Amino acid sequence: MTVALVYHEDYLLHEHTPTHPERRERLTYTMDQLREEGVLKHPSVEVVEPERVDESEMSRVHTREYIEKLKHLSDEGEGALSADTHVSEHTWRSALLAAGGVVEAVERVLDGENDSSFVMSRPGGHHAFADSAHGFCFTNNTAVALRKAQEDHGVDRILLWDWDAHHFDGTQSIFYDDPSVLTMSTHQTGRTLFPGTGYSDEIGEGDGEGYNVNVPLMPKTGDDGYRQVVREVFEPIARQYDPDLIFVEAGQDNHFTDPITDLGVTAQGYVDLMDAAVETAAEVCDGRLVASLAGGYGIEGGLPYTNLGVIASLAGMDTSNVREPATYEPPSDGPSADRAVAKVKENLDDYWEF
Ligand SMILES: [Zn+2]
Repeated sequence: MTVALVYHEDYLLHEHTPTHPERRERLTYTMDQLREEGVLKHPSVEVVEPERVDESEMSRVHTREYIEKLKHLSDEGEGALSADTHVSEHTWRSALLAAGGVVEAVERVLDGENDSSFVMSRPGGHHAFADSAHGFCFTNNTAVALRKAQEDHGVDRILLWDWDAHHFDGTQSIFYDDPSVLTMSTHQTGRTLFPGTGYSDEIGEGDGEGYNVNVPLMPKTGDDGYRQVVREVFEPIARQYDPDLIFVEAGQDNHFTDPITDLGVTAQGYVDLMDAAVETAAEVCDGRLVASLAGGYGIEGGLPYTNLGVIASLAGMDTSNVREPATYEPPSDGPSADRAVAKVKENLDDYWEF
């Protein structure tokens, strides 16, 4: 069992501003931790350096006008596409490399070179729409890679689970009318967190109706609530959809130390989530599983620990000693996921058996 760990030093070049939550230390601290724990030299882990995609790959998903705008601002060396999404001289080339990382990860699993893969890239992509950027994201790297998998490798059905704490509004919009990519998002409810979308009645449209699953969760939902969602929503839908590939957009900002969210998941909880993805992939698609780092801003807190946990899970390593960066007592009166799960079932009752 081998996992490709896709990483490139040039992922450190792009910077919004030095104090921005999405800064280069998100990756360097994790790489230090992986090195210290011996993960980078583990026989099950293959560190892989990706290449940039061509501009033509970006246009599988993004409009010509938007690509030109992003390139132009990057050439200028500065600019802003939204209040929280800043362009530097490195942004466009970093985006090409981030998309290249996800493409490499997907192709390695499809070609059977590795059993699974994990992409440690930035900038992220799940808030990027076909024609615009926001939420720290410029290009939808996952969508670029999944379109390539379908168009160049003949993959029919892909199940994409985005477990980032923020709703995947860009990704949802790209696949909203498309049943060939079943999109599922677990996130902190939009009433309490950016971008404010992701209600359970957003179920897709046209041919894609029933193929978009939103599970908005209350703050402090915690590990038990996530396990319930896995059991009652993710697993039954995955079995019925019968995908050729499972893709996890692995946002690590559900961890209890994250400074901008409040979901109360532990590093061990993250291990459970990835274990569930591994087991489901083994059951429905010969184990073909790709994961890609999305958010996660507890740079000196949970981020290196959650990354370590999910990579260890993918590699089939012993995860019983995955540690927490701090002690955490879940609130005794914390919310359950009962209501969120019930609403999902109600909205998707015509399409899936639960
Ligand atoms: Zn996020």
